[in-house]
Amino acid sequence: MRYHPFTLPFSIGLGFIVLYIVVMWTIWIIRLSRREQKIVWKRLFSLRTVSAIWESIREGLLHRNIFKRNILLGYMHMNLAFGWFMLIVLGNLEARLYPHGVINPPYYPIFFEFFRHDLTPLHEYEEIFTFLMDFFLLMVISGVSLAFFKRFRSRTLGMKRTTRHILIDRIAITALWFIFPLRLFAESVTAGLYNTGHFFTNFLGQWVIYNLPLDYLYYPAWWAYSIALGVFFITMPFSRYMHIPAEILLIFLRKYGVKEKDTHSTFTKLELSACSRCGICIDACQLSTSLNISDTQPAYFIRDLRYSQPSERLRETCMMCMRCLEACPVGIEITRIRENERKEYPLFTSSSYSYINGYKYPKAKVAFFAGCMGHLTPSVIKSTLALFDAAGVDYTFIDKNGSICCGRPLQMNGQADAAKQLIAKNNHLIVESGAEVLVTSCPICAREFASSYHLTIPVLHHSQYLLQLTKQNRLRFNQSGLKVTYHDPCELSRGLNITREPRELLQNAAILSNGSKEIESKSLCCGGSLGITNISMTDRYKIANNTLDEIVTESSSYLVTACPMCRKTFTNAQEKIKVLDIAEILEKNLNFAPEKASDKVQTQAKHQAVTT
Ligand code: SF4
Ligand code: SF4
Ligand code: SF4
Repeated sequence: MRYHPFTLPFSIGLGFIVLYIVVMWTIWIIRLSRREQKIVWKRLFSLRTVSAIWESIREGLLHRNIFKRNILLGYMHMNLAFGWFMLIVLGNLEARLYPHGVINPPYYPIFFEFFRHDLTPLHEYEEIFTFLMDFFLLMVISGVSLAFFKRFRSRTLGMKRTTRHILIDRIAITALWFIFPLRLFAESVTAGLYNTGHFFTNFLGQWVIYNLPLDYLYYPAWWAYSIALGVFFITMPFSRYMHIPAEILLIFLRKYGVKEKDTHSTFTKLELSACSRCGICIDACQLSTSLNISDTQPAYFIRDLRYSQPSERLRETCMMCMRCLEACPVGIEITRIRENERKEYPLFTSSSYSYINGYKYPKAKVAFFAGCMGHLTPSVIKSTLALFDAAGVDYTFIDKNGSICCGRPLQMNGQADAAKQLIAKNNHLIVESGAEVLVTSCPICAREFASSYHLTIPVLHHSQYLLQLTKQNRLRFNQSGLKVTYHDPCELSRGLNITREPRELLQNAAILSNGSKEIESKSLCCGGSLGITNISMTDRYKIANNTLDEIVTESSSYLVTACPMCRKTFTNAQEKIKVLDIAEILEKNLNFAPEKASDKVQTQAKHQAVTT
């Protein structure tokens, strides 16, 4: 026998999902820009494809990123994905090796044990196949049990919260959870009747359920298994499980160099579908851990954007600190997507930056830009410039008189044209100044200069530049012996990947307390973010205090950071610990500066940003 009507639900579901995936993949690919299509085509036959295949195995089947977060959670995901994959592969191999005269229909390997009770034609492979099929089924069942357990006791699997599902997700997840217990039941009933299984299904069939009316259960069991598969396949494209095929394509396109753009694109749609709604981003977010706001994180924002339009609250309630980005096992460019969505709904409608026409920057080797946050914390500017003076740096302080913006707020506010004009003007002025390097104290500005300006000179955060001066022996410091905690600002650590330089620099003047639990790319936000407008100062200070509770040790005398906004927020939020910028603590411990006297006089003449 090679056919039975019970296979229909599975076959219909499979036909539908295969067709759907092929159509969606085709749409996603043909809607990429011409340039992206060219890149994909050019890189298709390169090592990037090999690397994409390897990453698909590592992340799609073995879930390495989730393992890194929590072993039990990783084990759960791996068992479900890898175990199921192996059942499909082995089932196909088994059906192929079994002597037959025609091509196997797709349902045949899936329901092989229904159709073949006598496996002796497989010879010595019979034992291996029946054992492996039982082994991988047991593996998947253990994954399903953990997934079920996680809905009620998520903390055991390292998750403080599970994601709340919409109806279609509930239907899909129920079907998924039923697939494997039903398969186990169908195969155990068959093993009870025909001794077709191995250690697991034979044990269940012949010892556990042997008293049941197996003859009567035989067909209903296979029907139920097939229906569960069919329902899962049909609901899959509309539920969170579309992430399975979407993630594979995403991995390949990313390897070929396709990225999120400044506005939503086809690639955004692919990324939205690749979100598994695992909820890992909810746990990573300080709005959730400090303020108990746990319904605006990417899991929900992306979900609503995929189906329609997220509410204003969902769109705006985010500090853009990128902790979720760091935690997301799929690597979705979450903050970029939210930023692009915000652009569609600008908070302010007009801004004039025509004042910049009157600016001219004096010529110097170094252009220093404090940024408007820098101007709100003048002590940071003062210390940075004092160190420049001490090292004899030939610099021009280009926004000395304030007002000039790097353009980031315009970008964030969807005013792309105004931002373009401002950036072009700034760019021109910086080039005209003849500077060989642009240095800024504000990590947000540094990121903006590095990503939107296309400057031909390097853009450095002041911690990087001061470290260079120290290495060139143009600055020396006294080791104060003070124990300090260093806080990684979000935009500096996650945004620019600058974590080593500030530490190396700081160690010249103080001893780093190593008590920080959340450091470097996993650092906590100060709460002062300009990215969020709808939380109160009290809430911001609560976040700041929770961050300090996490990172500051009792032995620390200071909290040192490297962002004017973090410094300001931490200072205003509490009085327990004194907060300094990295430039301030260095200035306090400045020992000597060889070229101090000679160059200082020359450079001071150039500090003015002259208005004409
Ligand atoms: S955005 Fe990433 S972390 Fe958040 S639910 Fe989606 S896949 Fe999980
Ligand atoms: S960017 Fe930060 S605040 Fe926004 S959702 Fe992610 S973790 Fe939360
Ligand atoms: S990013 Fe912010 S702090 Fe930096 S200059 Fe622009 S507006 Fe000012």
